[in-house]
Amino acid sequence: MSKTLAINAGSSSLKFQLLEMPAEEVIAKGQVERIGLDDGIFTLKFNGEKTEITKDFPDHRAAIEEMLTQFKEKQVINDLSEITGVGHRVVAGGEWFNKSVVVDDEVLDKIKRLSAYAPLHNPANAAGIEIFRELLPNAISVAVFDTAFHQTMPRENYLYSLPYEYYTKYGARKYGAHGTSHRYVSERTAEILDKPLEDLKLITLHLGAGASITAIKDGKSFDTSMGFTPLAGVTMATRSGDVDPSLVYYIQEREGLSNEEMLYVLNNKSGLLGISTIASDMRDLEDVMDTNDHAKLAVDMFVDSVMRYIGQYIVELGGVDAITFTAGIGENSDIVRRMVGERLNFMGIKVDPEANQVRGKERIISTDDSTAKVLVVPTNEELEIARDVERLKNEQ
Ligand code: ADP
Repeated sequence: MSKTLAINAGSSSLKFQLLEMPAEEVIAKGQVERIGLDDGIFTLKFNGEKTEITKDFPDHRAAIEEMLTQFKEKQVINDLSEITGVGHRVVAGGEWFNKSVVVDDEVLDKIKRLSAYAPLHNPANAAGIEIFRELLPNAISVAVFDTAFHQTMPRENYLYSLPYEYYTKYGARKYGAHGTSHRYVSERTAEILDKPLEDLKLITLHLGAGASITAIKDGKSFDTSMGFTPLAGVTMATRSGDVDPSLVYYIQEREGLSNEEMLYVLNNKSGLLGISTIASDMRDLEDVMDTNDHAKLAVDMFVDSVMRYIGQYIVELGGVDAITFTAGIGENSDIVRRMVGERLNFMGIKVDPEANQVRGKERIISTDDSTAKVLVVPTNEELEIARDVERLKNEQ
């Protein structure tokens, strides 16, 4: 038995989970928020107890050192050598990485070079990897890419209808995101249905603050709603999803916005927040949608955008065996699941109203006579990361 750390380093945050492997037991988890800002917050959950520390974390190194210090202080571990593997979530893997890999200097260099594709995330991911390699030199270091799962998409699905040279010159194509989550829930869906994953036509709906939808065929990603960046696809909490690119220039010109300012609007002021004008959180909108017209419009547009992808993917896959909901909205919102289900009734896909009364638990929510299964499967990216670490450790 050994301990594996799953790390998700953002630009100003670091989430961690320590798992006992191969038992797949979560020992401790927590996060550091507001890295680089005043009043950082460190949180650790261990043995049913929660520790919270407020202090400044000038950089990721300070955050990671605090985590390791607290691990020892709270006796999560006795010695750092107990941690034999660290798995890092990396946002952009480009076309270089189609699966998780053990990090060496070359891999680290490539992750840094891919920063153009994820300017906020990849530098933070690389920094996290470098610090852990230094502080835990004997632990294997593994990079798990958000984009890797989608590298199986056929070229007609990942290319944009732009001059082909932009693809060869600049890598202008669809990379997708949330790959680790889509991979995990597709594997679980097959297990729950007791069918080989390769035999299933699946549509996985990762609906959180960021949302993406994936069509899975032969156990592989066949198409996905996010694009060159995670701005594309369905309506999200504050991201626009798909927009006619000409409209972007039209608005920019009239509002006098720079490229950066316009991108900020598309990423941070649009989506549910932009339409509703009141909130980006689905819970807040659901609470008032019966009386607030803008809240209702935002929820309707969100569901509409999800339906467009489900419809498209059923045709692309030539049918569907199961549709799986995951992430914050997918796991918790019976309202959104009901609305999606109702729109599929005409095809014989039916959500059972009683089974749908579920939050954050694995469950089949379709009726027995439904033509496709509908499921809720809570995502677990940390476990998927720890499994990759374990597998690569055993292969070494
Ligand atoms: P991310 O990882 O992209 O930040 P999450 O998967 O954690 O997002 O999902 C967060 C979102 O889930 C929140 O913004 C909220 O809209 C939604 N959510 C959480 N709980 C509920 C609930 N009970 N009902 C509806 N929506 C919920």
